[in-house]
Amino acid sequence: MLMCRDLAVIASDYIDGELTGRQNLSVKMHLMMCKACRTFIGNLRASTELMQAHSSGHPNEDLLRRIDQQVAEALRTRKSRSGDQE
Ligand SMILES: [Zn+2]
Repeated sequence: MLMCRDLAVIASDYIDGELTGRQNLSVKMHLMMCKACRTFIGNLRASTELMQAHSSGHPNEDLLRRIDQQVAEALRTRKSRSGDQE
């Protein structure tokens, strides 16, 4: 049976999806029963995602592209509404 301290050791691998199927299952079983570790994993996952977003080299590329699309879309809509031919 997985203990809290065991889970702490493999928690980052669990979040990265690098555990074996059996380890993964053990973690999930433990998380079902242990609220402390659910909180722990939740916090760790949140900070991991934050770090990955900041260290990826293109942290906001997706976001920027989406904003670009929305701006372009808004401009197009406005132009077609005002009858601009461009
Ligand atoms: Zn636990």
